[in-house]
Amino acid sequence: MQHLVRGCFRGEGYRFATGAFDIARACGWERVARLGSNENPYPPSPLAFARATEALASANRYPDERMGSLVEALEGAFGDYAFVTGAGMDGIIETVIRALIDHGDRVAISTPTFSFYGIATRAQGGILHPVPRNADFTIDGSRIVEESRDAKITFLCTPNNPTGNATPPGVIEEICEEIEGMLFLDNAYVEFSGIDYMPLVRRFDNLIIGRTFSKAYALAGLRVGFACVPAWFEPVFRRAQTPFALNAVSAAAAMGALADTDHVRRIVDHVTAWRKRFAEEIPFPVLPSDANFVLIDVAPMKGDEAVEALARRGVVVRSAAGFPQLGDHYIRVSIGDDWENERFLQETGSL
Ligand SMILES: *Cc1c(COP(=O)(O)O)cnc(C)c1O
Repeated sequence: MQHLVRGCFRGEGYRFATGAFDIARACGWERVARLGSNENPYPPSPLAFARATEALASANRYPDERMGSLVEALEGAFGDYAFVTGAGMDGIIETVIRALIDHGDRVAISTPTFSFYGIATRAQGGILHPVPRNADFTIDGSRIVEESRDAKITFLCTPNNPTGNATPPGVIEEICEEIEGMLFLDNAYVEFSGIDYMPLVRRFDNLIIGRTFSKAYALAGLRVGFACVPAWFEPVFRRAQTPFALNAVSAAAAMGALADTDHVRRIVDHVTAWRKRFAEEIPFPVLPSDANFVLIDVAPMKGDEAVEALARRGVVVRSAAGFPQLGDHYIRVSIGDDWENERFLQETGSL
C-alpha cells in the first residue's frame, strides 16, 4: 500500500532522541542521565499541578475555543499583544505554514537549525530554501534578506537549536524592515537568554514570535505553545487551526506555570550556573550558548560515535549529525539536574 503514501512521508521523519536511551537501558543502567531533548529536568510547578487537576473535573466539556483565560494570563505576563495558542510550538508552526503556504510557495530557513520547519513545509507542498549561517553560526542579516526575497515565510531560531547562540534584536529589526514575507522567530529557549524580542511585534506587521511551555516552564509532556502575532494575523491563524488544538487540562497547567515566576527563575539560574561550568570543564570546544543546552565539537570523533559511547555509560545526549549544514562532529547536550550534569562531566572526561 506504500504507493498511496505522499512522497514527503516516505523517507525519514522527525528524529527522536530515543535510540541512545534504549542503548543505556540495554547496558543495564538503572538511572540514566537524560540530556538529549532539552527538557526541563525538574517537575512542573505545584501551581501547574493544582490547576490541571482542577481542570480535569470539567474534561467532559470541549475547551474554550479561544483559550480566553490562557490568552488573558499571557497578556498579564507579557503585555498587551495578540496571542494565539496551540498544541506545542510545533502545532503553532504547523498552523502558520498551513495558513500561508500554498503548493510551490517558498520558505526560507536559517540553517543549521530545528528540523520541524522543513518537515512541516514539505508536508504542505512548500519549497524549502536553506540559508546557511556564518561559519561561527552568527546571522548575516543582509544575506537572510537577500535569500528570503521570494519566500512567504522565513524561519529564524533564536537562541538557535542546535548551535545555542542568540541573534541580537537589531539584526531581527533589519530583517523585518527589508523582507516582504513573514519572519517566524522561534523563541523556544528565550527565557535562558535574558533577551526580550516581543516589543518588536508592535513595530512590524510581518513578525511572529513562537514560544513554548516545554522548556523553561517544564511542561513538555503537556504540549502547550503560543505565539505573539501581529493583530491582522490572529483571525487568519484561528481559521487555519485544527479546532480545539490545545486541550483544557494543558491550558490550565500552563496558567499555573505562568503564575509561578519563582519556579521559572530557579531553573534559569540553575541553567546559567551550569552553562558556565560546562564551558569551563568540558574537555572539548563548547560553543557559547544562550539556551539550556550546549553544542560541543567532539572532533576527531563523530557525533554519532560519542553519543553511542556515552549511552553505554548511561548518559544520553543528542548527536547533531542529523542537522543539515552542520557537520558530523558535534553533540548537543542539555543541562540536566546536578546528578545528570556531574555524570556527563565524569564520562565525557574519558571519551
Ligand atoms: C523544543 C522546540 C520547539 C518545540 O516546542 P514544543 O512546544 O514542545 O512543540 C520548537 N522550536 C525549537 C527550536 C525547539 O527546540
